[in-house]
Amino acid sequence: MAVKVVPRYGNTLKEKSYIWAVVAGMKLTLKNFTTNLSDTSCIPTCEYPETQPSDITDRYRGLHLLTKRDDDTVRCVACFMCATACPSECIFIEAQERTDGVDEKEPKTFSIDLLECIFCGYCVEACPCDAIRMDTGIFSIIAATREEFIVDKEKLLSHTGIFGKENSLAQ
Ligand code: SF4
Ligand code: SF4
Repeated sequence: MAVKVVPRYGNTLKEKSYIWAVVAGMKLTLKNFTTNLSDTSCIPTCEYPETQPSDITDRYRGLHLLTKRDDDTVRCVACFMCATACPSECIFIEAQERTDGVDEKEPKTFSIDLLECIFCGYCVEACPCDAIRMDTGIFSIIAATREEFIVDKEKLLSHTGIFGKENSLAQ
């Protein structure tokens, strides 16, 4: 097979040394550095966590929440659709019959291991009851132990949507 020889860029000493290209790059860096020192408004980053981001869209996939019906019962019917769809296999559900006479199931336990979760949103898409959502707007999750990263049913029910939605949905 024929070998294609690509000629090296630059023939003169000035071009071969790349010195002027380096100087031009440094000049641009220095210009932006001095500009940003005097006017921070044009820097497209924020000093997190001192400054919290204010432009999170309402489609942002944050920490999960479990929703409730108007009668305050848990909307989840423990169908395992979310756990089946979850690529990380980090949703753990234990089902039980509802104790209020309704012929339906409910989760006895429902937990998500956030250290395994990749926040893909498949669980939300898979749920036939709109029982699990990710519109809490909570994106910063801090804990000291691995166990604390496993959020249980009570914790998931305590979260509310921050995007103007209630944690109780119309039937
Ligand atoms: S967001 Fe994705 S990875 Fe996380 S629990 Fe839902 S389906 Fe699993
Ligand atoms: S959250 Fe939705 S998909 Fe998951 S078990 Fe409950 S009802 Fe089924």
